[in-house]
Amino acid sequence: MSQFDVAIIGAGMAGASLAAEIAAEKSVLLIEAEEFPGYHSTGRSAAFWSETYGGPAIQPLTTASQAFLATPPTDFSDRGFLSPRGALHIGTVENQAAAEELQTNFAASSVALERLPKKAIDEYLSGRRDGWDIAMWEPDCCDIDVAALHQAYLSSARRLGCEIVCRAPVRALNFTGGYWKIETAAGGFVAQMVVNAAGAWADEIAQLAQIRKLDIQPFRRTMIQIEVAPSAPAELPLVVGLDGSFYFKPDAGGRLWLSPHDEIATPPCDAAPEELEVAIALDRFEQVVDWNVVRIERKWAGLRSFAPDRKPVIGRDSQNEQFFWLAGQGGFGIQTAPAVAQLAAALLLQRELPFEIVPALYSTDRFR
Ligand SMILES: Cc1cc2nc3c(=O)[nH]c(=O)nc-3n(C[C@H](O)[C@H](O)[C@H](O)COP(=O)(O)OP(=O)(O)OC[C@H]3O[C@@H](n4cnc5c(N)ncnc54)[C@H](O)[C@@H]3O)c2cc1C
Repeated sequence: MSQFDVAIIGAGMAGASLAAEIAAEKSVLLIEAEEFPGYHSTGRSAAFWSETYGGPAIQPLTTASQAFLATPPTDFSDRGFLSPRGALHIGTVENQAAAEELQTNFAASSVALERLPKKAIDEYLSGRRDGWDIAMWEPDCCDIDVAALHQAYLSSARRLGCEIVCRAPVRALNFTGGYWKIETAAGGFVAQMVVNAAGAWADEIAQLAQIRKLDIQPFRRTMIQIEVAPSAPAELPLVVGLDGSFYFKPDAGGRLWLSPHDEIATPPCDAAPEELEVAIALDRFEQVVDWNVVRIERKWAGLRSFAPDRKPVIGRDSQNEQFFWLAGQGGFGIQTAPAVAQLAAALLLQRELPFEIVPALYSTDRFR
């Protein structure tokens, strides 16, 4: 059986980014159940970077990821992964308290957020229906080129010697004599350390390893791509409901990506959109702007997996220090990936962190 220092289970954004961070110093095996990496949550995101998304406990990880995403090291990528978008958080008079809460939550941080006067809202969103008069402007929000980032992590990991094995669902994990024996559909492996980066399946992997699960719950989220008339301006910002009931943003060719911001608890699976959520998305959209929906071009759903306190879980398990959690990335696993991977690498390799983060905030100890 091939032997590795570290076996990472799951080649989504979490597993791929950590593999690239540690492969120069450790022999790394990246194990993926599917035919190709990125099939699940990573390949289904809305692809934005917003410092307010996920709340104040996530913002330090999002902010700490910005420099890497905007100007990655030249040996990693010859171009950045962010492009400016801006976010308009919008609501009616009923969402006054939500607007104030948003402002208060980030008042002590470096996040740029500004309350817009009613007249200024039209500069960002034409066709706004009556009543949508409350808005906060987040200028630094960006689109992320998710596929390019994920591929860059995978290429970098490979270049540094990481072995990537696909179509290899892990079926058994046994810890004996200080090593993990890992049984997969593509053969057996031995590793000193196992990293659980299995996204929606994180608790299932823990149970295979006889480690106490952390109640990481997957929630389904729906996205649809629509053609609208008039077509969406390319400079349209990400438009987010202050009540958390929708968001939409432009895609190439005047199309829009729209979500009803649904959060339906579901077991880990290959998530598919439900007609009801699609209808809710369209209904909410039509209440905000007077644009006509010409047709639905595409719809998809993915899983966002959260620990009970909605913070990611990054660190060794107290029951077995050779089992490392990299899970619970919720709805922010792309925008936080560089900082999360650097934090995980620092904990695994006893390295200094290049930014200030309190690791205990995200450690497994908070559940014990
Ligand atoms: C609709 C939607 C919109 C989103 N929008 C954004 C956004 O705009 N910005 C943002 O930052 N985040 C966003 N997210 C969240 C983001 O996509 C996730 O946080 C991130 O992709 C999680 O990455 P991951 O690697 O943990 O999970 P995944 O990408 O799901 O990877 C986990 C991998 O583990 C593999 N695996 C599972 N079990 C096994 C096993 N037994 N053996 C081997 N492999 C296994 C799976 O096959 C999978 O490939 C969104 C998510 C959704 C669903």
